Amino acid sequence: MSTSAESAIQLKRTYPVYITKLLFGLVTLSAVIGVPAYGLLVGYTWLDWTMFGLLYMITGLGITVGYHRLISHRSFACPDWVKAAFLIAGGWALQNSALKWGADHIRHHANCDQDADPYNAQLGFWHSHCGWLFSDQRYVDEKYATRLRQDPVIMWQYRNYTAIVLSGLALPFVVGSIHGGLLEGVGCFMLAGVGRTFAVLNSTFCINSVCHLWGNQPHSQSDSSRDSWIVSLLTFGEGYHNYHHTYQSDYRNGPRWYNFDPSKWLIYTLSLFGLAWSLRTASAAEGKVSNL
Ligand SMILES: [Zn+2]
Ligand SMILES: [Zn+2]
Repeated sequence: MSTSAESAIQLKRTYPVYITKLLFGLVTLSAVIGVPAYGLLVGYTWLDWTMFGLLYMITGLGITVGYHRLISHRSFACPDWVKAAFLIAGGWALQNSALKWGADHIRHHANCDQDADPYNAQLGFWHSHCGWLFSDQRYVDEKYATRLRQDPVIMWQYRNYTAIVLSGLALPFVVGSIHGGLLEGVGCFMLAGVGRTFAVLNSTFCINSVCHLWGNQPHSQSDSSRDSWIVSLLTFGEGYHNYHHTYQSDYRNGPRWYNFDPSKWLIYTLSLFGLAWSLRTASAAEGKVSNL
C-alpha cells in the first residue's frame, strides 16, 4: 500500500454506533436464545462441540497472544507469518481489527480509571464489560495507533478484516456441512460460530470488568487492576491483571510456574522452535514500560 493511501486510513468512526448495537444485539440474542433452542430442537453433535472447543482456543489465543501480548505490548517478537496467523485467529473473535483493538488497549493502560480510559471501571461493571462499545469514547485517539500503523502486518489485517471475519464465520458451517450435510453445518455454525463468539467476547470483557473490580492487588495499588485466577481459567492466563498492569511488557501475565497462563506457555513453546524471540520479562523490562 502506498504511503498516501495509508495516511488516508482513519481510525475515526466509519459507521454509526447503531451498527455496533445491532451486531452486538444480534450475536447476543442468537447466542442466548438461538443456540440453546437449536440444541433442544435438533441437538448438537460431537463435531459441533469439538469445533466449539477448538475455535474457543484458537480465537481466544489469537486475542491474548496476538492482539494483546504481541501487538499491544510487544512482549515478544516473531516472524511475520506467525504474526499474521495470530491476527487471523484474533480477527475470528469479532473484536475489531488489531489496529483498533490495540489502540484502545494502549489507551486503557495509559489512562487507566480516567475519562480517556475506554473501559473505565470507575463507571461501573457494565460500562467496563461491554457498555464502552456503544460510547463515543471507543473511537480511538490517533496517537495511540501511531506505532501500530508502522507495522505492515497489522495494516494488512486492517484492510482485510471483513474477509477474515467472514472466513471465521464460514469455517464451522463448512466443516459441519462436509461432515453431515447442511443441517449439521447450521448446527456447527450455531455452536462453534455464534455461541463460541459470544463466549470469547464475554471472557475477554471480564478482564476489563471483573479484573478491575474484584480480586487481589499483590503487585501495585496504583490503579484498579486486580488478579483473578478464576478469570485466567477462561482467558488463557489474562486474569493476573494486577501483575500485567504493573509489568505490562512482560510476556507472562502469571509469572509463577504454577500460574495458569496458557498464553505464556504458547509463547515460550514457540520460542523453543525459533518462532518467537526477545521474550520480555519484568526483570528485563524493569517495571512499567511505555507502549507508545
Ligand atoms: Zn486493565
Ligand atoms: Zn494489556
